[in-house]
Amino acid sequence: MLVDTHAHLNFPQFLGDEEATIRRARKAGVESIVNVGTNLDVSRKAIDLALPHEGVYATVGFHPHDVELADPGGLQALKRLASNSKVVAVGETGLDFFRNYAPRPLQERIFRFHIRLARQTGLPLVIHSRGAEDRVMDILEAEDGVAAGGALHCFGGGPDQAKRAVALGFHLGFGGTVTYRRATSLSVALGISPDRVLLETDCPYLAPVPHRGRRNEPAYVRQIAEFLAGRANEPLESFAARTTENARRLFGLM
Ligand SMILES: [Zn+2]
Ligand SMILES: [Zn+2]
Repeated sequence: MLVDTHAHLNFPQFLGDEEATIRRARKAGVESIVNVGTNLDVSRKAIDLALPHEGVYATVGFHPHDVELADPGGLQALKRLASNSKVVAVGETGLDFFRNYAPRPLQERIFRFHIRLARQTGLPLVIHSRGAEDRVMDILEAEDGVAAGGALHCFGGGPDQAKRAVALGFHLGFGGTVTYRRATSLSVALGISPDRVLLETDCPYLAPVPHRGRRNEPAYVRQIAEFLAGRANEPLESFAARTTENARRLFGLM
């Protein structure tokens, strides 16, 4: 009944534990997991993990931290991966002006490549944006990323930026940070149109309370759903059904 729309099951924290992690997610009521690629190697592994597992899907892309790996050969290889039947989105891509692990002009150039790839393939975008929400949306408008649509995952922008993203047709992903004290993302999540809210863990990072500080995993999307449903004064059942429907519609999940 739930979907984790942003997980990193191919990060080293899950090495050797992938199968058990998927089983625990199913047991917790997580019917689908969107397992996100961050470079060519992780994107390939995400497809390999998705192929034999029903309800596990992959995305392919170069994370803004990893854009220096995106040489011309890598970008061509990424294009080929995008046509795999288990790939449901292009990304994660975007801009990170908070950590700045890669030069901003290069981040922007590779982000534009991903937007064009999304338009060519008809896939939505999975977008990482940290300290760069306005610039991300400027580029989405300039490159007609609006036509591709997608999710701004782990949304950390303010209410006005959320409003702009929703007006552009994008969905916003919310995870464990909504359960943290003084989290601004909680009021943003409760303030936007319910048909644009996606649930995600961003595991292995950002575990929700009461798991905060430990490895996060897709099963915990349940705690995030319970918390948000409670704050929205909505029964868990209908909140879960609606956010799951949002994810199915955006990513074309079966
Ligand atoms: Zn991210
Ligand atoms: Zn991520």
